[in-house]
Amino acid sequence: MSKLGLNGQILLAVLMAVTFGLLVQGRPPEHALYAAGLIGTLFIDLLKMVMIPLVFCAIVTGIANLRRHRQVTVVWKTTLLFFATTTVIAVTIGLTASQLFKPGAGLHLEMFSHAMQQFESRQMSLLEFFTQFLHGVFMNPFKALAEGNILAIVSYAVCLGIALVMGAERYPQLLALFEEGMGVCMQMISWIMRLAPWGIAALLFKLVATQDLSLFASLTKFMLVVTGTTVFHGMVVLPLLLFLWTGKHPLWFLRQAREALLTAFATSSSNATMPVTLRCTTQNMQVKPEIAGFVVPLGATMNMDGTALYEAAAALFVAQLAGIDLSLGQQLVVCLTTMIAAMGAPGIPSAGMVTMVMVLQSVGLPAEAIAILLPIDRLLDTVRTAVNVEGDMIGSLVVQHRIEQIA
Ligand code: ASP
Repeated sequence: MSKLGLNGQILLAVLMAVTFGLLVQGRPPEHALYAAGLIGTLFIDLLKMVMIPLVFCAIVTGIANLRRHRQVTVVWKTTLLFFATTTVIAVTIGLTASQLFKPGAGLHLEMFSHAMQQFESRQMSLLEFFTQFLHGVFMNPFKALAEGNILAIVSYAVCLGIALVMGAERYPQLLALFEEGMGVCMQMISWIMRLAPWGIAALLFKLVATQDLSLFASLTKFMLVVTGTTVFHGMVVLPLLLFLWTGKHPLWFLRQAREALLTAFATSSSNATMPVTLRCTTQNMQVKPEIAGFVVPLGATMNMDGTALYEAAAALFVAQLAGIDLSLGQQLVVCLTTMIAAMGAPGIPSAGMVTMVMVLQSVGLPAEAIAILLPIDRLLDTVRTAVNVEGDMIGSLVVQHRIEQIA
């Protein structure tokens, strides 16, 4: 493998892992599963180990350096505009596809009553969700760092970055410390990436080999619709937006982004992928560290096109199962709650499933219905996480382009 570049090694690892996983599907040898679990977890643990200090240092120095250049307002505005635009497009695609292909037609909720009996939903209204979300934004930074609470880390780091700039030249050592901290983290990531082909292969092998296929047959159409539209959003819509906004070629982007996309696919976690996302944006795509350091961590928790698309499509799917025709007004409510749900979902595996409950409840659909979606979620999570991460990288390129335009 060593003659191949890292990208080639990772691609080969994906192919081999999926092939072997399929070969032993349903009856994987114990020791292979144990080894895959061990290596996969080690890879994710290593990424998580550098993720928190990296994100913290990246945001503090990012904000501090942006303020120095008086560009902070443009960065904020462009970032939020980009996040909002792409999320609305994703939700619209999800809703339209479910309306058009009707993956729930011919199926009904009673068919899944067994699965639903084993599930108890945690009821949470939109207001409760919002309160909880807001409550989690500001907290003791040491607690947030220890718990790996990205949202709270981002907000504290933003405050600290602003404080450093407002203090003018009074804290140069502190700023230099964070800058050096970021450099050291990037160095460690380049070591961890040597393990990436093995880690990614192990995670995918375990995922494919242990999938529970019992509910697949009846859900095939839904899975195809969701996967097809998510891939469409990731391969057509986002690259097209990138091209229109910045003139960058989609193939160039995909080549530079490959490591991060495959890591997101294998880990199903935007958070765990973040060190690789930052590496791809700053080193492969030459986005300035202060821009990537701001857009990527914020996007990892707030910008989730794949999750938004999935939740919108799934809500309509459940409505079809329940035999309910959602009015246009109700679809708008789904649209809105989905956007909030995707924003509030942390970048960890299956987080979208938790916030999905809220989307269903917003239009009176049975929250227990997510029990039907749970068995297939780990598979669908792979593609939607890759698209979530792709959105963050494209966002960084768009913001960088905007800054260059006005410079
Ligand atoms: N796994 C996704 C992510 O980390 C979130 C989700 O479950 O949709 O981006």
